[in-house]
Amino acid sequence: MSASLKAKIAQVFEEPGCDKNQGKSEKERKKGCTKQLTPGAAAGGCAFDGAKIALQPIVDVAHLVHGPIACEGNSWDNRHSASSGSQIYRTGFTTDINELDVIYGGEKRLFKSIREIVEKYDPPAVFVYQTCVTALIGDDIEAVCKRATEKFGKPVIPVNAPGFAGPKNLGNKLGAESVLDYVIGTEEPATTTPYDINIIGEYNLSGELWQIKPLLDALGVRILSCISGDGRYHEIATAHRAKANMMVCSKSMINIATRMQERYGIPYFEGSFYGISDMSTTLREIARLLVERGADPELKDRTEALIAAEEARAWERIRAYRERLAGKKVLLITGGVKSWSVVSALQEAGLQVVGTSVKKSTKEDKDKIKEIMGDDAHMIDDMTPRQMYAMLREAKADIMLSGGRSQFIALKARMPWMDINQERHHAFAGYEGMVTMVAEIEKALFNPMWAQVRTPAPWELEDPLLREQDAAQLASEAAAG
Ligand code: SF4
Repeated sequence: MSASLKAKIAQVFEEPGCDKNQGKSEKERKKGCTKQLTPGAAAGGCAFDGAKIALQPIVDVAHLVHGPIACEGNSWDNRHSASSGSQIYRTGFTTDINELDVIYGGEKRLFKSIREIVEKYDPPAVFVYQTCVTALIGDDIEAVCKRATEKFGKPVIPVNAPGFAGPKNLGNKLGAESVLDYVIGTEEPATTTPYDINIIGEYNLSGELWQIKPLLDALGVRILSCISGDGRYHEIATAHRAKANMMVCSKSMINIATRMQERYGIPYFEGSFYGISDMSTTLREIARLLVERGADPELKDRTEALIAAEEARAWERIRAYRERLAGKKVLLITGGVKSWSVVSALQEAGLQVVGTSVKKSTKEDKDKIKEIMGDDAHMIDDMTPRQMYAMLREAKADIMLSGGRSQFIALKARMPWMDINQERHHAFAGYEGMVTMVAEIEKALFNPMWAQVRTPAPWELEDPLLREQDAAQLASEAAAG
């Protein structure tokens, strides 16, 4: 691992926004937060993947992956980060290095690729991603990017997060470091107002940012930049002029918020857009911070008026569903989305959460879940597919909300399932998103096809042996669960 990458990783682990990290001794902190992954066993995504996920939603830049083509194939557009304009972020650019490059070095090929992108597409910037192979052969992407920036008069940003550096979460932070080092603070906005904020760690999945923006527009609050959902290079370059930062989603890019506080004195808070009460709290926090930083205090009154109107409207629309959903049991297996936000959202819809996974949750997240659910907090650290299946087959849960990978467990158990993770096709943010989520759960639960798929097939009815086998299998699964 190069000295600069080692230093960068050490810097990321010095995170002042992480209580757990600050509670460690100097020696423990140096070891980092996660175990180094074994090559080939980067389960759940490598550091490069994490950096790409964090930055690819910047929609108007070209994202060039320096490495074998499979790295790009692995990470390309695997989430539905939507764009309101440019589509260049969805073009898969890679240097696709070969055996000769491994022997002679891939720097020339990288430089040529940057030239080709600039000539053919002319984006406002090119982001260059390091990968395992090119890092191991010693390609210096920082030097190539510096040379290309001078030559083409366009920012070419190195993102030094090769897969072997660690897991996906570390990659999110290393990607954020590149934005801090090379983008933020390099341009000035045309105008500034006391109502300018940055939203950090929001990826505009299925257009979720667009469920939030109208609310902020109604308050006269301007999103100076969103890092990185539907983001624009020039906007992010001016982010240092915002009056407040909002940190969304599991601290994936918390280092941007803490470093901007240190460097530019911009305060930040951590909030969520999921669930009616969390959305209202977030709007109040934005107003509070902006007023503290010089906005007119009447902003708070306008915020309260907007919250009252929006909450009333959302409840009105949810009421029709609450009756049908009341008491229905949900098994919640989420990955990236903050479990506590979703738990409170589901409770607002009248659903009963019978279990929630906390495998990827931080200690604060777990405390929040306990606060929301009290003694009923059925937190599951790790649940095997077999246990999930048994729980659904025995009807301990009426529906499972999870990521796409576990959908077939629910379908095999002939139980409804809904995608709650980052690959989902519906936007669940804000008041509008909450109504959508409830509507989607209702559709999944009451889909008439369940009656049909649960009816035994004609040959099962005719063959008592098959019925017995099915019952025996169910009993053994229940015992194993
Ligand atoms: S960067 Fe490394 S770990 Fe990640 S996809 Fe490429 S080869 Fe695999």
